[in-house]
Parts: sequence; structure tokens; C-alpha cells
Amino acid sequence: MNKQNLLSLNQEALNDFFVCLGEKHYRTKQVMQWIYKVHEFDFDKMFNFSKPLREELNKIACIEFPKVVKQKFALDKVIKWVLALSKDNYIEMVYIPDKDRGTLCISSQVGCALACTFCSTGMQGFNKNLTTGEIIAQVLIANKYLNSKRISNVVFMGMGEPLLNEQAVYNACDLLLDDLAFGLSRRKVTISTSGIVPAILRMSKRTPVSLAISLHAPNNQLRDKLVPVNQKYSIEKLLKACKVYLNAGTQERHILFEYVMLENVNDSTEHANKLAKLLKTISAKVNLIPFNSFERTQYKSSNTQTIKQFQDILYQQGIRTMMRRTRGEDIDGACGQLAGRVLNKTKKPDARKY
Ligand code: SAH
Ligand code: SF4
Repeated sequence: MNKQNLLSLNQEALNDFFVCLGEKHYRTKQVMQWIYKVHEFDFDKMFNFSKPLREELNKIACIEFPKVVKQKFALDKVIKWVLALSKDNYIEMVYIPDKDRGTLCISSQVGCALACTFCSTGMQGFNKNLTTGEIIAQVLIANKYLNSKRISNVVFMGMGEPLLNEQAVYNACDLLLDDLAFGLSRRKVTISTSGIVPAILRMSKRTPVSLAISLHAPNNQLRDKLVPVNQKYSIEKLLKACKVYLNAGTQERHILFEYVMLENVNDSTEHANKLAKLLKTISAKVNLIPFNSFERTQYKSSNTQTIKQFQDILYQQGIRTMMRRTRGEDIDGACGQLAGRVLNKTKKPDARKY
């Protein structure tokens, strides 16, 4: 029998788990205290559990982590971890420090099926969805290496498309926001997506976390090439779903639009003007990302001056625009450089399926 990894259960699921064992609800709070506050993962050491309960937990449950196989430190203090989920599946996560706090960039899949042409993860195909436990374990592992207080933001911008692994990602978001677990505010947790429209509509109702959209092109003809899932969900459909997200929930929401700057591909003044026009009616912030290179890519990054001009055009038309500083480049830890390892590439990417 497969043991239940307790890291895969959000508070509600833990309640159900303990009720099935004939235990009271307060066991949920106790076990979450052990796991997320004390960082104790051995049932035998959870002294406020009765001996029969500890024995039962050892029989049917576990608290299991991927193995850390590599830890790399960049000159700018970015840290990258390579984690083994099994002997064939490796993922990567990155910590980007900023003064005394920082952002943890986590993975949601091994590889990615969406095959964006400028992305190293997308080039390698897809192998599997991560479980909630495998997602949450990344945050616990980073917490252990750093000091819990130092992770201020968690972003699903590592390997994979989080909105093609919805249930596991939403349950992980529950734990990231839960005061009994990580207690982050909804603004500090971000799901980044290349635009899976029906999932954005579901996410709007299911979780209040922040949304980032990987747009990368202001017209369908170009976006079809760069982000092939656009062939299924056009820019018009995507922006309509964005408006549903913005109007859902009781608190004010914004969307971060990511735009990778590719020399002579999507970086002209016409592109900037078209982008400004598209985003005018949306509560948007734009993040311009210099393209991060990897082996066998046909693209080059736009130069700083072009990016600055692009930024000015957006800015003059009232769009808040930032330029993302490239971090962790010397350890291949920058956006889009996370490769992990996908040995079983039988599941070839086909964006039109979704
Ligand atoms: N699949 C999701 C999240 C993971 S990718 C998504 O696409 O949004 C995280 C971000 O890195 C996305 O905005 C993606 O477009 C960007 N990215 C991918 N490859 C990149 C590269 N080579 N250089 C810069 N950014 C890249
Ligand atoms: Fe997948 Fe995102 Fe990379 Fe596109 S950019 S291939 S959606 S990980």
C-alpha cells in the first residue's frame, strides 16, 4: 500500500484524514504545528500524539521529501537547488534574495508540454505533474537551508505550467496562505501562466493568489509562434479571462504581464505601442524580461537601450512597467534556464491538446 504523504494534504484534507482515523479535528492543528513550525518530520517524536496514533501514522502515512542532489551559489547570491523526485525526474528551484528577504521560484511540473520556443524547460518535453507534496517540499527544503523568515514571496515561475496541474497547485497555494503552514499573504504568492484560459476562470474562483501572464507578443500571429498555446487561446480570449480574474474576489487585484525581450522579434516601437493599446483597459503591470540564453537557442536578448525605449513607450501611455534584472545567470538559474532533467521524454509536447 502506498503511504499518504501528509505534505500533499491541505488543512481540509488533513481534517478528513484524521476523521477517517477516528481522531478529533485538533490533530490537524497539532500535525501542522509539527511539520510547518517545528520542522519535525518523525511521527515518533510528535510527543502529543498517543502511542497507538503514532504507530498508525507510521503504518499508513509519511512526510516525504525529494532528495537535494545539487546546490549552486551564484555570484549575486542567487541559490539554485536540483531536486530528484525519482531516479528519472529532476526539478530545479531558485531563491532570489533581495536585501534581507527574497523570492522562491518553484516548479510545478517535470518539464513542460507547451513548448514555448524561447524556453529551455519547454524544449525538453513533459514528463509528469508534481504532487502537492512535491511542491510544498520545495518550500520546506528552502526554508531549512535559509531561515524561514527569509522567504517573503513564492512564485510558480520555475519549471512547468502551473495551470496544467491545477489541483496540486491550488492545494499547495492553500498551504502557502494558511497561517498554520506558511502564512504568506495572497499578494506574495504568484501563479504565472502562459494563458490556459479555462483554468484562469477556475483559478479566479478557487484561490485568491496573484496572477502573472506570460504574454510576450502583442499580436496573435507572433504569439502563435512564441507561445504555441496561443493557437488555442488567442490574446482576445486571454484578456477576457484576465478581466474575469480582476473582477473576482472582494479585494482589489492586478495582473503582472511578463514580456521576454527578444532582439528583432518582439521589441520594436510598433510592438510597444500595440502592447500599450492592448493593456490600457486592464489593471496591469508589465515586467520586461531580458531573454536568458541557453544552449541551442536561436534567440538573442534585446539590448538595454532597446528595452529602455520599449519601457518608455509603455510608461508614457500610462502602463506601469519594470525591467527585470537578470539574476543567477552564472549558475543557469535565471528565468527560462531551468532545465532539470527529463529522461522519459515519451510525452512529446503538443500545445494544441489543451
Ligand atoms: N509556465 C509558466 C511559468 C514558468 S516560466 C509561464 O510560462 O508563465 C516563468 C517565466 O519565465 C515566464 O514568464 C516565461 O515566459 C519566462 N521565460 C521562459 N524562458 C525564458 C527565457 N529564456 N528568458 C527569459 N524568460 C523566460
Ligand atoms: Fe512551459 Fe512556461 Fe516554458 Fe512556456 S515558458 S514552455 S509554458 S515553462
